[in-house]
Amino acid sequence: MMSNYFRYCLTFSLAIFLLTIGGCASAPKGGPGVPQKDLVLKDLCVRYGISCVLDSVSQVITLKRKGVKAKAILASDVVVVDSKKVRLSKAVWMSRGTVYVPDDFKRKVVQPMFAKTSPFVQKFRKVMLDAGHGGKDPGGIGNLGTREKEIVLDIAQRIQESLKRKGIDAVLTRNSDQFLELGDRTALAQKKGVDLFVSIHANIDTSHSARGIEIYHLRPLDTKSWAETYAPKNYQVLFKNFKMKQGDETLEKILTDMMYSHKQQVSYQLSRYLADKISKKVGTIDRGAKTAGFYVLKNTLVPAVLIEVGFLSHPKEEKSLCCQEYRQKLADSIAESLIDYAAYY
Ligand SMILES: [Zn+2]
Repeated sequence: MMSNYFRYCLTFSLAIFLLTIGGCASAPKGGPGVPQKDLVLKDLCVRYGISCVLDSVSQVITLKRKGVKAKAILASDVVVVDSKKVRLSKAVWMSRGTVYVPDDFKRKVVQPMFAKTSPFVQKFRKVMLDAGHGGKDPGGIGNLGTREKEIVLDIAQRIQESLKRKGIDAVLTRNSDQFLELGDRTALAQKKGVDLFVSIHANIDTSHSARGIEIYHLRPLDTKSWAETYAPKNYQVLFKNFKMKQGDETLEKILTDMMYSHKQQVSYQLSRYLADKISKKVGTIDRGAKTAGFYVLKNTLVPAVLIEVGFLSHPKEEKSLCCQEYRQKLADSIAESLIDYAAYY
């Protein structure tokens, strides 16, 4: 029988292959007077997901990918990638509004732009931060009247800012005191094409003595429970966007298994890593990584964790969570720990 790991590697490569085929731009056609080996810059940028803007006054072309910048100048063979100068085999040139680059542009400019991307961005291109509750659903309420929906929204927004400062694309499920069904949250994750889902909540405990941080990931599901979630249906929707033979059940089964194994493996590793790191950075109790069957963990296709940032039912912790400085510390610690995780694994 094929080991899970082997299946993961095989199918992951397959997914990359399919996505690459899907994302390929056509080779430059090269009209009259265009040397066959020169490449159309726009095609390269589309193919590699690089944004590309030409300033017609300065003649400077700015290329950007995940916080990494490169600048080329028309009629010059010099390109600056981050702060490093590289020299192309010939100058960048333009004809009838199309910019052409020599074929070593790929090796000298595009490749270094990818190499300079942080391990986090290589692993997760986009993160969704999900502030729990909202609107008519206040979530837990502390003794001082602190409402979970407000605390977690503020923390999620601070995490987003913290990640964005590091060049990481992070989006929110809600950015105001808005009620969202759980299904809307997971649907949004799929719509926005995120690679990681992080839900933020605060805890309540009737004994009022529990405190600290705990992180949840999805408990292993048997085939029946898995089939009852929305995830398999969502995978089918996802596969429709792949350039592959539609309705190929074997291939779809392999891809579904691969994505589920990937989700479970990363969610497990990440929740363990975060529980330890965040509690140390913040200076609070690590209540560990736990499993649960929460809707947002079950119905997201990508790795997903739910962070309980503290107990509103604990008098001291409620006071801490009410304090802006503490929430900023929590948010920075969560963002840093996410980044450290990617570098560590
Ligand atoms: Zn909650």
